[in-house]
Amino acid sequence: MKKYVLFPLFCIFLISCGQTQEKKTEETMEQEAPKEEVTQKEPTDPKETEVWEPAREIVNPTGQNGAPSDAIVLFDGSNLDEWVSAKDGGPAQWVLNDDGSMTVKDKTGDIKTKRNFGSVQLHVEWRSNSESTAEGQAKSNSGVYLQDLYEVQVLDNNDNPTYINGQAASIYKQAPPLVQALVPTGEWNTYDIIYHAPEFDAEGNKTKSGTITVLHNGVLVQDHFELQGTTEYIGWPKNNAHGKGPIKLQDHQDMSGVSYRNIWVRELD
Ligand code: MG
Repeated sequence: MKKYVLFPLFCIFLISCGQTQEKKTEETMEQEAPKEEVTQKEPTDPKETEVWEPAREIVNPTGQNGAPSDAIVLFDGSNLDEWVSAKDGGPAQWVLNDDGSMTVKDKTGDIKTKRNFGSVQLHVEWRSNSESTAEGQAKSNSGVYLQDLYEVQVLDNNDNPTYINGQAASIYKQAPPLVQALVPTGEWNTYDIIYHAPEFDAEGNKTKSGTITVLHNGVLVQDHFELQGTTEYIGWPKNNAHGKGPIKLQDHQDMSGVSYRNIWVRELD
C-alpha cells in the first residue's frame, strides 16, 4: 500500500525539480546570453550605403548680393522696407547710409522685421563706432534679438572690459563667448547664427529649450548653447510660451552709433 502512495509523490518531486532546473537554466541564459542587437548585415558593396533620393535643392551660395539664393534678404543697403519701429510699428527711423549700411538713430528705438520667424540661419554684419569714447556697456552697444526675446550682444570690447556674459557675441547674461573674436574697432564684424526656437506644449510649458550657435567673424563663439529663457537685463530668464517672432536690432539709447549691413536669413522650419 505504501508503494502506491510514495510512487506518485516521487514522480511529482521529479517533475518539480525539472521545472525548477528549467527555470534556472532560462534565467541563467537570460543573464549570460549576449544582448542580441538588431543589426543589418554588413554591406559588402559600396552601393548599399549610397543614398540618391530625394535630390537636394540647388542653392547658389552667393545668389543675391552675396546672400544664398534661398535666403530672405532683410537688408541690402537700398531701403528699410523689411523693418519697422519696435516701439510703435511705424516706419524704421534708423539712418540709411550711402555705403549700403544703416546706423542706429539714437533714441528712435529698436527696429524689428515685419516678418516673424522660428528657427533660422541668420547672417548679420555690424560695425562699432570708431568715434565713441564711451566705456563698458555704453561703447557701441546694440544687439541682435531672435524672436524678439533672445539677445546676441553687440558691443565694442576692444580695450573695453566688461562682464563677460555681456561682452560681444555673448548670449546676454547667460553665456559668454568661447573666445573674443572682434575685428579692430570701426571694421565690419560678421555674425552667423544658427538658432533653433524653443518648443512649448498646449499648456504653455516649455518642452524643448531653444539653442544658439554663433560664428563671429568665422570663429565659433557659441556652440549650440541651450537657452535658459529670455535674456533679461535685470532678473532671471523667463520661459513664457511664444510662437514665431521678429528679428530685432537694439537701439541702446546711448549714442552707440552702431551700423549694420548685409542682413539675410534662411528659415529652418
Ligand atoms: Mg545690447
